[in-house]
Amino acid sequence: MNTVTIAPIRAFKDNYIWCLRRGRSAVVVDPGDAGPVLDYLGAEGLQLEAVLATHHHADHVGGIPKLLAKYNVPVFGPKRENIPGITRKLAQDDEIDVPGMDLRLRVIDIPGHTAGHIAFFGEGLLFCGDTLFSCGCGRLFEGTPAQMHASLSSLAALPGETLVYCGHEYTLSNLRFAAAADAANPAIALRAAAARAALDRGNPTLPSTLRDECASNPFLRTHDPALIESASRFAGRSLTDPVQVFAALRQCKDGF
Ligand SMILES: [Zn+2]
Repeated sequence: MNTVTIAPIRAFKDNYIWCLRRGRSAVVVDPGDAGPVLDYLGAEGLQLEAVLATHHHADHVGGIPKLLAKYNVPVFGPKRENIPGITRKLAQDDEIDVPGMDLRLRVIDIPGHTAGHIAFFGEGLLFCGDTLFSCGCGRLFEGTPAQMHASLSSLAALPGETLVYCGHEYTLSNLRFAAAADAANPAIALRAAAARAALDRGNPTLPSTLRDECASNPFLRTHDPALIESASRFAGRSLTDPVQVFAALRQCKDGF
């Protein structure tokens, strides 16, 4: 049994920097801001051992130079993107032994939000940056709907009990769109109640599980008749292809 625990470090308005902890060792995922990470490490008496980065956006990697100024640690990130301080460039199926964690993670290429976006998966944990969100998905800044649909499908194929650690607290607003697009799905109201309860207690709504995402996330349900109907209504024509359904849902949500 692995003894890694995972804590959220909040940054900016709604970012989560996930901190993997084992003993006195810590590894952070997507440190967009160094300040809250340094505060957390100091308060908890932890030593930073490595940084993992999923994609190049500043709110995910902006804190890396300042962390490296204090800690000389390896930085694992996507091969196809420009990440400050990167020491290990990764792509599909590469495996890493996460320093200090006794944890092996495998890399999955998930382009769409950005062109080189990667996820880290292993031991039931998924760090997926801004690609899969709880009940939503990232915007298509650098990729096509076909790429994003394929990326989300590869994540959805992972085991149902996988814990989903994404980069932002967007769950409640995502659920409002899900409720509109998939109105008869009872899983959405249950998840909204759970999310509200967590937020009321000051807790993250994350991690979610892939099983819950597959049951309620509209962007993973492009094969479902209710979502096909919603997407077709938005597009003003009958859609059948899952990529077209995905594209229409994503476009609809952009204006929601
Ligand atoms: Zn991003």
